[in-house]
Amino acid sequence: MAKKLSKVPVVIVGMGWAGGIIASELTKAGIKVVGLERGKERDMSDYSMVHDELRFQHREELMQDLSKETITHRNNLKMRALPMRSYGTFIVGEGLGGAGSHWNGQTYRFLPYDFEIRSLTEKRYGKNKIKSDYPIQDWGITYDEMEPYYDTFEKMAGISGETVELYGKRSNPYPTGPMVKTPVLAEFEQAAKKLGYKPYMIPSANLSENYKNPDGISRSACQYCAYCENFGCEYGAKADPVVTVIPVAKETGNLDLRTYSNVTRIVNDGRKATGVIYVDTFTGEEFEQPAEVVVLASYVFNNVRLLLNSKLGTPYDPKTKNGVIGKNYCYQVSSGYSSLYYNDREFNIYGGAGALGIEIPDFAGDNFDHSDVNFLHGAGIRTTQYGNRPIANNNSPIGTPSWGAEFKKQSIKYANSILQVKSQGASMPHTQNYLDLDPTYKDVYGMPLLRMTYDYTAQDRELVKYMAKVTRSIAKKMGPDHIDTVAEQADFNVNTDTNTHNTGGVIMGTDPNDSAVNTYLQMWDAENVFVAGSSAFPHNSSFNPTGTLGAFSYRAAEGIVKYLKKGGSLV
Ligand SMILES: Cc1cc2nc3c(=O)[nH]c(=O)nc-3n(C[C@H](O)[C@H](O)[C@H](O)COP(=O)(O)OP(=O)(O)OC[C@H]3O[C@@H](n4cnc5c(N)ncnc54)[C@H](O)[C@@H]3O)c2cc1C
Ligand code: SF4
Repeated sequence: MAKKLSKVPVVIVGMGWAGGIIASELTKAGIKVVGLERGKERDMSDYSMVHDELRFQHREELMQDLSKETITHRNNLKMRALPMRSYGTFIVGEGLGGAGSHWNGQTYRFLPYDFEIRSLTEKRYGKNKIKSDYPIQDWGITYDEMEPYYDTFEKMAGISGETVELYGKRSNPYPTGPMVKTPVLAEFEQAAKKLGYKPYMIPSANLSENYKNPDGISRSACQYCAYCENFGCEYGAKADPVVTVIPVAKETGNLDLRTYSNVTRIVNDGRKATGVIYVDTFTGEEFEQPAEVVVLASYVFNNVRLLLNSKLGTPYDPKTKNGVIGKNYCYQVSSGYSSLYYNDREFNIYGGAGALGIEIPDFAGDNFDHSDVNFLHGAGIRTTQYGNRPIANNNSPIGTPSWGAEFKKQSIKYANSILQVKSQGASMPHTQNYLDLDPTYKDVYGMPLLRMTYDYTAQDRELVKYMAKVTRSIAKKMGPDHIDTVAEQADFNVNTDTNTHNTGGVIMGTDPNDSAVNTYLQMWDAENVFVAGSSAFPHNSSFNPTGTLGAFSYRAAEGIVKYLKKGGSLV
């Protein structure tokens, strides 16, 4: 029997970017908040002497422990799903700051096209352009309405960047200027310009200069140390909830932060929640935390899993296409890239930063004509310089054996002489790609695991072929001795694919029949439950998601303040 605690105004499940932003905004408004985080407490001192590739990148110290909880995956309805036992695809965060501690920091806005994708596609190409098995829908809010929230997120995080003409209008320039354009990025820039494209520096949460944000938090400039993706930043240069929003929430005295607290269920009567049940992961003791408002900020997978395990909302059924929880799960497509090998040039690619890169906007969204192609949306075509670390850096041309003397020879030869032109493609929802509960496998607390049914769609595969031609044409202009292009998208493999951007499952919209939350991320079926994070995105853009989920977290916080005053639906 769970021990019942005193009721609080708000309980937040998960303290990453979404939970951290909402906690900061509510506590600044004088609202008492309990923050429940299944992992450990962290502050910047945990990142000191962090440059240990084996410990953090390969043994994944900052990530969720897959022996206690994972997801199961199958490619289609006919297969049996199996648990993911080693990290490939997702690298889920755990501990204060969530994946915001070990992310790269590439911080984009989505396009005006993303928010009104169905209306704008039908307007330009006619009603038949979107096939019936792709449940693509408008988000219920426009880019212009979201712009002030993006602006707030970027000022809090100190995003470094430059204004891009082909994207949505901005009310302010980025708070800090773009990062350093290294010789590697200059190679891409020159080649792209020769082809008439408009390269720009990727917007970055690795600070290009020292910065003090509107909350009074000061952080130092990035050192380009290259231990960024999968690592915490020991300089505080990478925006992370632990060095931005969470200290602000703590400072108010209104945040009761409880780490090692794993939430297993939302207590509810089917129309409203009364609180959550959580387990102290050390003692195994169970608690019930009653609250007026429950906020789920436990990432895509656990946002969906907690709702399904708590029987809140109607589960999506891929056969009838009814129900909303688990619907429109999307990933991204990363094939279509070209690798460039140089025999006589070296580039110092061991230096870099998680968000150091250059990109062209010309193939994003509907910035190019889709009349004669069998896909929607597009890709970010880019060269990045994260810093190639010694253990994982074993690049060699296609056809090289994957072990032995020849492998060793080739990976040493090209260790500092390989560049890539990458393609990060948007992913559209499909009726047969969805999330539900696994009928067999359970976590360490006996709760059913989340099951993912997912494979790349015909539209994804067409997009990859198209973008492969684009990356190869830029690669040729960069003058390497040898180019390998991956032009076909293989089936989705949960252990080897490498993109970390998951969206959908608790999507927003204007109609309770095809969405689970409104644009304040308030559930249609339970007005005092807010579900924050990229689970709310009805499709996945070609951009990294955190700028957009951060912007929506500010909007959700605004909604919760209103809800606590008046109650009822916010729209
Ligand atoms: C290696 C890597 C690089 C990335 N790089 C970029 C990038 O460059 N740009 C970008 O936009 N995005 C990037 N991302 C994605 C980005 O990290 C996420 O979009 C973002 O951090 C998600 O924030 P969140 O708050 O929704 O979820 P999370 O950060 O996952 O936080 C959720 C929190 O909830 C906790 N939790 C989960 N379940 C429970 C439970 N049952 N009870 C209690 N607590 C729970 C977790 O422990 C976690 O701390 C990257 C991700 C990875 C893994
Ligand atoms: S590259 Fe820059 S932002 Fe990233 S960890 Fe190093 S210093 Fe920090």
